[in-house]
Amino acid sequence: MKKILAVLAAATALMAGPAPAQTYPTKQVTVIVPFAAGGPTDIVARIMADYFAKALGQQFVVENVAGAGGTTGTLRTAQSTPDGYTIMMGHMGTHGAAPALYPNLKYDPTKDFEPIGLAAGTPIIIVARKDFPAANLKEFIARAKNPDVRLSQAHAGVGSVSHSTCTMLSTQLGTKHRVVAYRGTGPALNDLVGGQVDYMCDQIVNLVEQIKAGAIKAYAIATPERSPALPDVPTTKEAGLPDYQVSAWNALFAPKGTPKEIVAKLNDTYKKALADAATRKRLLDLGSVLPDAGGQTPESLQKLVQTEVARWNPILKGQATQ
Ligand code: ASP
Repeated sequence: MKKILAVLAAATALMAGPAPAQTYPTKQVTVIVPFAAGGPTDIVARIMADYFAKALGQQFVVENVAGAGGTTGTLRTAQSTPDGYTIMMGHMGTHGAAPALYPNLKYDPTKDFEPIGLAAGTPIIIVARKDFPAANLKEFIARAKNPDVRLSQAHAGVGSVSHSTCTMLSTQLGTKHRVVAYRGTGPALNDLVGGQVDYMCDQIVNLVEQIKAGAIKAYAIATPERSPALPDVPTTKEAGLPDYQVSAWNALFAPKGTPKEIVAKLNDTYKKALADAATRKRLLDLGSVLPDAGGQTPESLQKLVQTEVARWNPILKGQATQ
């Protein structure tokens, strides 16, 4: 039914006037961020929105629709009118991990969206409050495994990147800690800096500034190579946990049924954003890994979503209540 409605809405939009892509956008576009302001998804979305606004001559306004590990804002996007005036910044959680954790999820990341483009790969870093009593990853692991110590782990809700990737860490280490859920890792990071929680696993784009400032401790980045944005942070392999390899990503999606020409225009603008020196620099300075030309198509993003849903399912099934 939803599909039929989406198709009807798209058809109506098409009949209503001139070819939509020629004039699009004629008014403000909403970019839904399914997490709180100030976190990684919000940061990447605002960088892209700035470029889109300049390039297309209309405002691209970020709306933070947080809740349920990002699934609330993602569902809102899936159910909005597919006319190009509502798009979203999704990520590895909303479009990869969530189906494994929400048996009744009301959207299908592989079917209910028109992929626009992969905005940024975002490596995961294990971080702790600055006075956490462990000087390196090995000491952190020893403390995490100590049954007499009950650590608190911050995350952005079940199904979020911080939740899924730290669940993967806990499974590998055989640990179970007290979890504290936030509406995004923006507010979670504030509490980590304030020392109210012990540690979290988060996307690099949220962390570079605070790590450089010494406001939090970074134990390891879960990628094969160090990040040029944080050359002093060791890899998990260097730090003694080689099997913990995980990266997240952020990507732009429109609701299913958005006219093809509009999706193509959005993809074209997104590609120009990634080619724009100032936009690139903003993303790279935060540690983003930018896709090459082959990774900038809607088709490659669709494949990524399918691969991620399949990858996370066995890792997370049965973990929903952790
Ligand atoms: N990346 C999310 C945010 O923007 C949180 C998460 O998925 O962990 O806050």
